[in-house]
Amino acid sequence: MREKVEIVGVNIDNVTMEDCKGLLKDFLMGDRLSIIATPNSEMLYNAVKDRELEQLLNSSQLVIPDGIGVVIASRFYKAPLKERVAGIDLMAKIAELAYEQEKSIFMLGASQEVIELAADKLRERYPGLKIAGIRNGYFGTEDETEIISEVNAAGADILFVGLGSPKQEQFMHRHRESLNAKVAIGVGGSFDVIAGKLTRAPEIMQKLGLEWLHRLFKQPSRIGRMMKLPKFIILAFYDSKARSK
Ligand code: UDP
Repeated sequence: MREKVEIVGVNIDNVTMEDCKGLLKDFLMGDRLSIIATPNSEMLYNAVKDRELEQLLNSSQLVIPDGIGVVIASRFYKAPLKERVAGIDLMAKIAELAYEQEKSIFMLGASQEVIELAADKLRERYPGLKIAGIRNGYFGTEDETEIISEVNAAGADILFVGLGSPKQEQFMHRHRESLNAKVAIGVGGSFDVIAGKLTRAPEIMQKLGLEWLHRLFKQPSRIGRMMKLPKFIILAFYDSKARSK
């Protein structure tokens, strides 16, 4: 059994990137879709108020701690998380594994320009990587059946879903039964980063757990969304106290 840490009601897998690599290999050999959720502080804060999101996260096959806030919050509980596993880093690992094992990837999400650029960048980084297909993330619910048929017809083994939260979690779970892929991961705004439209923080900032500060600097309009980070930490603190009683 994998060790999990329950933070404000969501079970987060206490895994390292190395553990994830092993799990991915198992998922790719599995007989049904495994969903990987990548919650950060904002998503966990939202899940406290949104019971559907909480349930979608808890029914995912792997739930990684995407943000440093999640790792900090885990220290209030009895078993702290070992490390932050950034969704974008796991996505790169999956691409690497897909390349090695000749598995194909379908990329769904972001604007048409971004998704095309992101696919080009991945092909550049892993020449020969099989991109089964791409599709932008601006569609209506009525188009979803057609999208699933497109992903299945393309024979995709892996699906990257970058629609933002909770849209991406809802999409992956809604179609779990009809998707033939073996792995689906919610990647948020990672396509924008891969396409070069957004930059990641310098490595030193990432190591110091300050990636959020870089993001705030680059996208000051996110201040409202980012205020959920300290609110989440406070919420987790009280939640951990209540649970230890
Ligand atoms: N997006 C999309 N369809 C939508 C809404 C958003 O494809 O209907 C994309 C958007 O273009 C961006 C990503 O979803 O690439 C959302 O990024 P956000 O910054 O919200 O995610 P985070 O990185 O914070 O998880």
